[in-house]
Amino acid sequence: MSKGHESCSGCGVCLLSCPVWHHRHTMSYTRKARAKAMQGGATHEEIALAIDACLLCGACEASCPEGIGLAALNILQRQELNRTRNDYPEWYPGELPVHKAEGTVSGRASLFLPGELLGKDTATRGAVLKQLGKNGRTTLAVDDGRDIALIIEAGLPMRPGRLESFISALNPARTLIVAEGLLHRPLRKWLPAKKIIGLGEALLSKGRLRQNLNCRDLYVIESRGYHADHKRLVLFYDRLRRETGCQTNLDLQRVAFSTGASSLQGRRDLTASGCIENAGRILKGRKIDRVIVEDLADAGAFRLAADVPVVHIGLLEQE
Ligand code: SF4
Ligand code: SF4
Repeated sequence: MSKGHESCSGCGVCLLSCPVWHHRHTMSYTRKARAKAMQGGATHEEIALAIDACLLCGACEASCPEGIGLAALNILQRQELNRTRNDYPEWYPGELPVHKAEGTVSGRASLFLPGELLGKDTATRGAVLKQLGKNGRTTLAVDDGRDIALIIEAGLPMRPGRLESFISALNPARTLIVAEGLLHRPLRKWLPAKKIIGLGEALLSKGRLRQNLNCRDLYVIESRGYHADHKRLVLFYDRLRRETGCQTNLDLQRVAFSTGASSLQGRRDLTASGCIENAGRILKGRKIDRVIVEDLADAGAFRLAADVPVVHIGLLEQE
């Protein structure tokens, strides 16, 4: 079982890669302050602003030297807070979305779950699927669980039977390629026999896409999925950097600095959530000709912060 808030030493290392800290510079919004407040007996209502401000990027868990299970605690705190409050921040979903089937039920080896943003951008989604489907083994999932990702992020209860229908639609596949990083941890728990990977890993595993990267590219790793499988993916992306020379949004601890653009707050307002500012922080001092993003939400933030082209990885081969 993961360690809890009682193990927080107050070292503050988690601040270094926290986009909320860099945007707000307010100690009470930090993960450290939340953990110390819980040690002191604070209620979730008393730290509601900090719980709501968190962008769920997962960087704090990857950097915490005490090994506290901060990613799960971040969601748990949101669930606990929702039990008692009546007023929600403006970025909270009003009506819970109802899932609409789009793909085809398939017994192919791999299913691609595009998530909300890629699901709506049919041109980019089509390009991704073309890349993934070149060996004929990947198809679009009939149910990508985008409503479930939203419910998890908001800490809201799931509709009865919804989880069961989602999982049963995924059962025919051996590998799930999941663009929404927030779903990686729960999917590994619900479907332990399946291989769950992110879109970047799935596309970069094909050698020809790597050949398109060079030392003047900033490659922006999707932070939620990366931190959910941190130890393994550190090795994957270190190899990518060695082979291509590309720059990334990883710091010296190999923690991914996030814009926060894929969060519910970021999707509502990139500026107010600090996403453009954080994209600027990632770009600062770099000599680059191009930004490549795994997460379509990051494309929006970098296009407003960068003076170089921003390309989604699914469109890289067309460049
Ligand atoms: S999940 Fe990200 S935004 Fe939230 S406290 Fe941790 S580092 Fe900060
Ligand atoms: S890195 Fe871990 S131990 Fe250090 S302040 Fe943050 S939560 Fe506490």
